[in-house]
Amino acid sequence: MKNKIWLSSPHMSGEELNYIHEAFDTNWIAPLGPNVNNFETDLAYYTGVKHCAALTSGTAAIHLALIMLGVKPGDEVICQSFTFSASANPIAYQKAVPVFIDSEKDTWNMDPLLLEKTIKARKKEKGKSVKAIVIVHLYGIPAKIDEIIEIANKYDIPIIEDAAEALGSEYNGKKLGSFGEFGILSFNGNKIITTSGGGALLSNNKEYIEKARNLSTQARDEAPHYQHSQIGYNYRMSNVLAGIGRGQMKVLDERVNQKREIFEYYKKEIADLPGIEFQPEIEGSFSNRWLTCITVDPDKSGGITREDIRLALLEDNIESRPLWKPMHMQPVFEKYSFYGNGTCEELFKDGLCLPSGSNLTEEDLERVVGVIKGVFRK
Ligand SMILES: *Cc1c(COP(=O)(O)O)cnc(C)c1O
Repeated sequence: MKNKIWLSSPHMSGEELNYIHEAFDTNWIAPLGPNVNNFETDLAYYTGVKHCAALTSGTAAIHLALIMLGVKPGDEVICQSFTFSASANPIAYQKAVPVFIDSEKDTWNMDPLLLEKTIKARKKEKGKSVKAIVIVHLYGIPAKIDEIIEIANKYDIPIIEDAAEALGSEYNGKKLGSFGEFGILSFNGNKIITTSGGGALLSNNKEYIEKARNLSTQARDEAPHYQHSQIGYNYRMSNVLAGIGRGQMKVLDERVNQKREIFEYYKKEIADLPGIEFQPEIEGSFSNRWLTCITVDPDKSGGITREDIRLALLEDNIESRPLWKPMHMQPVFEKYSFYGNGTCEELFKDGLCLPSGSNLTEEDLERVVGVIKGVFRK
C-alpha cells in the first residue's frame, strides 16, 4: 500500500514546543495565562483588528457573537448555505431560525443580490428585520465583501464574518476576519494553522471582546466568591494550546505561500484537462488557498465525473473530498427557508477538494496529479 496522502493535515514548525515548555515550567496550565494573552495580541496584530478573544473553537466564537448581538429564540439569522455546519449550528443553539441563501459563481460565497432580496422578503413576511448575517469565505476565497457590507449597512444588520478557513487571506489589502462586526477564526486540526482545537473571536469593539472573555469563563461577576448574574460558557482557550498557536503564528505567512504554491502547481498541471475549473476569485482578492478546489463538468470532460476522480484517488490511498454539502440540503436544516439560484447544489454535485496540506512533498503532488491525468487518459 502506498503511503496515505491526506486532504490537509497538521503541520508543526517545532517552535510550538518552546511555548508549551514555558507553560509547563511556569505551571500556567489553565484557560488563562501569558500564552493566551500573547496569542490574542499576535492574532489582533496580524488581522489588523483591535481586540481578540482566544476560545475553545470557531463554533464557540460564532455562538458568543450571536449572543452578544442579542439573537434570541425565534429571531431570524441569514447564513450562507454553502458552508460547513459549524457556521449554522450556533444559530440553532440560540433557538433562533436560520435563513439560508445561495452563493454566486464568481467566488462560491454569498450572493449579494440574493442577500438583499432575502432581507426584504423576510421583513415583509415577519414584519421585522433579520438579526444578523453570517457570511463565509469558503476555502479561503474572499466573498464579495464590499457589496455585502453595503447591503448590510443599508438595512443596519450586523455581519458575523466566518473566516475559519481564511486566516491569511486578504481583500483589497485588508485581512479577512476584519470586515464584520465580528470576525471568527478556527484552529481546528485541518485549518491553515492549528492548536489541535481552538478558535478566536475578533472585533474592533473592546466591550464585545471583554464581554466574550467573561462569557467564555462562566460569566463570573466581580466578587471574591463565585457569583453569576447570567448564564456563562466554558469556552476559553487553554494556555497550553495557545502556546501551540504562538508557534504556529510564526509560520502562518509561510503556510499561506505553501498553500498558494500547491494551488499554482495544480493549475499548471491540470487546468487544461477538459471540463476542469478551479474556484475563482474576484479582483482585489488574495487567497490563502486553504484547500484547492475544482469542479468537473461531465458534459465537457467526456463523461468523467467528480466521483470518478475521487474514487481513483482513493484507490491510490489519496484523500480528497466533495465540496461542502449545502445546509439547506442537510436533514437537520431541511425545514428552514432557502433562497436559491442553483449555484451551490451544482457545486456540491461537481466539486472536489484536492489534497492541499502545506506538508505535502513534490512527489506527493506528482502522485495526485498523475492519478487525475490517468483518469482522463482512460
Ligand atoms: C472549521 C470551520 C468552522 C468551525 O471551527 P471549529 O474550530 O472546528 O469549531 C466554522 N466555519 C467554517 C466555514 C469552518 O470551516
